[in-house]
Amino acid sequence: MNAEIVAVGSEMLTPQRVDTNSLYLTAELNNLGVEVVGKYVIGDHLERLASAVRLALSRSEIVILSGGLGPTEDDLTRDAVGLALDRKLIYHPEIADALEQRFARLNRKMAEVNKRQAFLIEGAGILPNDRGTAPGQWLEESGAVLMLLPGPPHELKAMFERQCLPRLARLVPPQVIRTVELRVAGMGESDLDQLIAPVYKKYENPATTILAAAGDIQIHLRARCATQGEADALLVEVAGPIELLLGDRIYSRNGESIEAVVGDLLRKNRATVSVAESCTGGMLGERLTQVPGSSEYFVGGFITYSNEMKIELLGVTPEILAEHGAVSKETAEAMAIGARRRTNSTYALSITGVAGPDGGSEAKPVGTTHIGLAGPTGAEVLKRQFIGDRARIRSFASQMALDLLRRRLAGRG
Ligand code: ATP
Ligand code: MG
Repeated sequence: MNAEIVAVGSEMLTPQRVDTNSLYLTAELNNLGVEVVGKYVIGDHLERLASAVRLALSRSEIVILSGGLGPTEDDLTRDAVGLALDRKLIYHPEIADALEQRFARLNRKMAEVNKRQAFLIEGAGILPNDRGTAPGQWLEESGAVLMLLPGPPHELKAMFERQCLPRLARLVPPQVIRTVELRVAGMGESDLDQLIAPVYKKYENPATTILAAAGDIQIHLRARCATQGEADALLVEVAGPIELLLGDRIYSRNGESIEAVVGDLLRKNRATVSVAESCTGGMLGERLTQVPGSSEYFVGGFITYSNEMKIELLGVTPEILAEHGAVSKETAEAMAIGARRRTNSTYALSITGVAGPDGGSEAKPVGTTHIGLAGPTGAEVLKRQFIGDRARIRSFASQMALDLLRRRLAGRG
């Protein structure tokens, strides 16, 4: 079964507010095996809301609206759904009474406008709201169900969980959605797609999505089946060949970040790491320490932007810097060796490069980066030419440094 979500509210069409209700609803629907195939943010406008409802109903069996159930003029969800379905709004005195009592319990007098909340769309069932004034509504229309839920997230969640989920569970055929998330470092998106498209293109189920960031690609496979066993088998059928093609470029199979994977490997190897960063200015250390428990293996680092600091803090010699320059294989190597020696860590990573937009030359254009790794078996340096703006080049560089260490650690078993 498919669902669509309509988030109602003009404020979410401004940069100040985002629709988060649909994220919660999507996760809950997916748990039931229902796919969300469309969502909309619509301002407080009767006609536009009605047409979104009509469109959603023409394509999906489940339509959920959130927000716009308040008592004021701009709360139009009830009217819009009534208009879309060509149903009347019917006043329910018992809802008005219950609202009045709720206000009385809080020692307040109900404003006249709150009576607007006592209107139900013809044929709708009421979904009580124990956290606010706006009651929700549940409607069925030619084989589809429609829910009107309040906008405030804590009200919506409580109502959906207690009132809607049990009803949906009875309606939705048993179906499960299972996912696999492969993460890959050090490959371009188009190269990766060229390699694996012949495998996943043959399948509509599981659905494959590829998300790319600097030096990091996520491959999401989502299988929808009647049983968990079927879904898992389907995932193995498609993920298996993809894993074979990508080999050790895959760093995680469960969505774990590369920082966390590297951390696990360091811990398993009882090893520690330090960093010496130039153009990334601490980004690598920041990423390594994002992982809880990183103090077990991360000893510290150096941000050595100037030549003087590279000499003073890391022991890079003035001769190396004079002969090869700060952005060079030799400097990267000396930085890593220096950091390792001065911190007594098992491994040290170094990064030196031209992040741009200025500072490039013909021999060393913007994006030229050297990544060093020093460890018990020696030092190595990777040279990369990254493409993109400053932020992207820095992300790439830190990603490649983490991947370099990951490969070394994985190689050690
Ligand atoms: P109320 O009776 O509180 O007016 P309502 O159903 O009319 O309820 P809205 O007025 O649309 O709800 O929204 C109330 C508040 O809930 C908004 O100010 C906003 O902070 C939050 N909200 C509404 N819709 C969403 C959404 N889709 N995602 C996250 N927050 C939302
Ligand atoms: Mg409102």
